[in-house]
Amino acid sequence: MKICVVGTGYVGLVTGTCFADNGNDVWCVDIDARKIQKLNEGILPIYEPGLDQMVARNVKAERLRFQTDLADAVARARIVFLCVGTPSAEGGAPEMKYVYQAAEDVARAMKEHTILVLKSTVPVGTAAEVRTRVAAVTKHPFDVVSNPEFLKEGHAVEDFLKPDRVVVGTNDPRVALIMKELYDPFVRSGNPILIMDNPSAELTKYGANALLAARISFMNELANLSDRVGADIDLVRQGMASDSRIGKAFLFPGIGFGGSCFPKDVDALGHTGAAHGLDLKLLKATNDVNRAQKRVLFDKMKARLGDLKGKRIAMWGLAFKPQTDDMREAPSLTVIELLLEAGATVHAYDPVATHTTKEVLGDKIQYAAKPYDALEKADALAICTEWNEFRRPDFDRMKKALRQPLIFDGRNIFEPARCEELGFEYFGIGRGRQAGAKSKR
Ligand code: NAD
Repeated sequence: MKICVVGTGYVGLVTGTCFADNGNDVWCVDIDARKIQKLNEGILPIYEPGLDQMVARNVKAERLRFQTDLADAVARARIVFLCVGTPSAEGGAPEMKYVYQAAEDVARAMKEHTILVLKSTVPVGTAAEVRTRVAAVTKHPFDVVSNPEFLKEGHAVEDFLKPDRVVVGTNDPRVALIMKELYDPFVRSGNPILIMDNPSAELTKYGANALLAARISFMNELANLSDRVGADIDLVRQGMASDSRIGKAFLFPGIGFGGSCFPKDVDALGHTGAAHGLDLKLLKATNDVNRAQKRVLFDKMKARLGDLKGKRIAMWGLAFKPQTDDMREAPSLTVIELLLEAGATVHAYDPVATHTTKEVLGDKIQYAAKPYDALEKADALAICTEWNEFRRPDFDRMKKALRQPLIFDGRNIFEPARCEELGFEYFGIGRGRQAGAKSKR
């Protein structure tokens, strides 16, 4: 099939590349000329495991192109995917101007019947609104499909190639068939392609993200309680997760969720509720708990170290989660902000997110090229992202480098008892010990 993908961010670039890899002809478009230039030089604007080889392979095979000329790309395609951003605007509502602008640009460029697919996360009612706006611009026939994306950054290629499900919102059986034909190669193991109406498809995406976010906030509250009552949240988690009604995923406490999706999607769903006269209380609590959780590691450092003025804090991990360079809403940014406000200095190491952190923080912190360099003469280590390479470190080397053997583990990657055996003072999230308190072990 001939496909145009509008927006070459995390979702658009992965979508376009994976469709091309299945033999489709794909034109990827972005208004950011610098991004397109880099892509045409073979430089990816994002870090996503496996994506660079896949892009190179499909560009070479002339199935994948990058350009700024949207009209040209739309004129060549039968299906146009909108993958532009929908960031939070004032009051928690999603900013829809990029979606509407792109939809109207597509409408002006259409030359024949076109299927316009909304892959961006958009609130209920968007497909209907896009239909009205497109109809006002073009005389050509068209369909608007809701096809929310569920990929996870860091596993995006794998998730796209083997989705748990594909959700397609359309009332037209012929359009549903075309979408099925396009996605069939990705669900050969039997995962479903769920055809539904547009509002249900739109709401499915927000429902899924909000529930996952709520699980994390719930576990974070339970972890904070564990600290008070002397329970170990990791044991509690295992006990809970063994219940098949609960399951194992998304039960890990930490220093809050970040990224470009959960915080904004939770707010956006709450906003939709309010617009329809419903106060969706769990959603507000989910984000409130999360905002508070982003401070927890700092509070533990303050409780243990007292005045942080002049203290040097080593930080391992900056990205909002492992396997990505995305810093949007990263909890590390809150921890850093609080440390700097308190007069501490931060020496950070992240395997891939240094350049994206520099775009946000510039030279407000120091960046180490290697993990152990960040530890030199630091008063404590704060772990903000659970990169695999941090899981089995050389503890002797760590102890020698640190001025004080103090670990504040915001992702619970170490065993408290083992750390204490090795002579570290360890503070995790909900590991049954409050900072400043005497060890019970
Ligand atoms: P992004 O900010 O990384 O990329 C958006 C891209 O769209 C940018 O490159 C921007 O320049 C481009 N753009 C904006 N307006 C344009 C226009 N008129 N024409 C052409 N290009 C235009 O965003 P993202 O993270 O890829 O997210 C895109 C959407 O997908 C959002 O709605 C998001 O909520 C949703 N989503 C994201 C993820 C994720 O993990 N990032 C997962 C699922 C769904």
